[in-house]
Amino acid sequence: GPEVFQPQRANAKGFDLAHSPTLAAIEEARAPYAEATWDAAPILAGPSAPEAAEAVTNPTGGTSPGTVRPASEADVATALDNAALWDASLNTRRATLLRAADMLEERYGEIFAILAREAGKGLPDCVAELREAVDFLRYYAGQATNTPPAGIFTCISPWNFPLAIFCGQVTAALAAGNAVLAKPAEQTPLIAKLAVDVLHEAGVPRSALQLLPGGGKVGAALTSDARINGVAFTGSTATALRIRAAMAEYCAPGTPLIAETGGLNAMIVDSTALPEQAVQAIVESAFQSAGQRCSAVRCLYVQEDIAEDLIRMLTGAMQALKMGDPWHLSTDVGPVIDAQAREGIIEHIETARAEGRVIADLKAPKGGTFVGPAILRVNSIADMQREIFGPVLHVATFKSHELDAVIDAINATGYGLTFGLHTRIDDRVQHVSERIEAGNIYVNRNQIGAIVGSQPFGGEGLSGTGPKAGGPNYLPRFSAPDHQDCAG
Ligand code: NAD
Repeated sequence: GPEVFQPQRANAKGFDLAHSPTLAAIEEARAPYAEATWDAAPILAGPSAPEAAEAVTNPTGGTSPGTVRPASEADVATALDNAALWDASLNTRRATLLRAADMLEERYGEIFAILAREAGKGLPDCVAELREAVDFLRYYAGQATNTPPAGIFTCISPWNFPLAIFCGQVTAALAAGNAVLAKPAEQTPLIAKLAVDVLHEAGVPRSALQLLPGGGKVGAALTSDARINGVAFTGSTATALRIRAAMAEYCAPGTPLIAETGGLNAMIVDSTALPEQAVQAIVESAFQSAGQRCSAVRCLYVQEDIAEDLIRMLTGAMQALKMGDPWHLSTDVGPVIDAQAREGIIEHIETARAEGRVIADLKAPKGGTFVGPAILRVNSIADMQREIFGPVLHVATFKSHELDAVIDAINATGYGLTFGLHTRIDDRVQHVSERIEAGNIYVNRNQIGAIVGSQPFGGEGLSGTGPKAGGPNYLPRFSAPDHQDCAG
């Protein structure tokens, strides 16, 4: 057969935001899109009859970035009827995905503008998100093999990484040769539409990649049909369980569900930790991206001996955070995604206030859907019933002899996504990492972020089914069930 072309793996270069010429170039590239609008609608391999157009909300309170026409029931039927495997050679699939990665990098100005105005993302988050998206494309292109595809794969993604996770799922499914039905989160259809346009322009046929914007109703329709051969889902644990129930009812028994879900992530800071290092890591892990990362720390355990000092430093650092429009470089904390998210988070903070458990919180700016970061006291992670997906950190203290009990309490939540540890005792790193049940463990640094190809990301228990995204075990799961041997 033809020689197989094996691309060299390298992560995207990204942008150095401390380099002023680079910054000026970014400003110039995104400036034309400061007031632009985009429109998303289903992109099908057949005629479409979508629902009426709706305005897409700008969470900063600024001008709407455009409109979306959600997929109708008829559109879902059309997509299923016209879905066809990506019938191209391995080399063509690889070259097409690599071309799309380059095209995404070239369109960074427009991409950063959509991410800011549709998802409320600041420039550092925009840069990280584009890099991750491009990395996924190149990594899965390189990992693709000739094993037979599963068939029709539904990909359902969340709004918090509306480009990176969308592209990660979709391009893994495409790299394996599947027919993909892509449903982005209802809050972020515009960036998904751009990604699909780029993939089509790069050469992916429409029948192999169809876009179905919309909310839970469209997602439900795309996961309850006997013709679906696999589902890749990232989002909340509750939605994953709903999808599993729908698949159990409608899909063939062996149909795989790859689910990456929520977390109740903890960090332990012991009395040997470097306080400045810990405080910086906590602020980043709790408040960056307005706390809207699945990896974000939700519950901080501080050893009692240093708790008072550390919490004072932490409160000071939090009070120095600047909230506002993430388009501006000086902004540290942007808005949360929408009014519903804000109401839920504020209700949580106000309940804590009524119980006298607010250690410190900031006032949110007017307009948009901002929530002031908050630090709340809890006795134990066991007090936390659900993942609060926003800039809220819960703090508990422990005595040195209670370390194992703390680990037990963290494991007992049933979640297992990320975990952070700050200590200068090597044996303790060993001991705690062996006992903690979490997908990604971070020591003496922040606990957000992962790097495709070198630091795969994913959780266990209530946090996901595995395999880790951006790692060698992910792509084989998109092949036909009897060909899922993991890459060596
Ligand atoms: P969500 O569960 O509300 O929605 C996720 C997606 O599921 C959306 O596209 C939504 O429209 C769709 N959906 C909703 N109901 C559905 C149904 N019944 N059937 C099929 N699809 C349905 O989550 P979200 O608010 O968009 O995202 C935030 C959540 O995602 C948090 O819990 C976060 O921890 C999690 N998350 C996890 C990871 C990870 O890698 N583990 C990464 C990012 C986000």
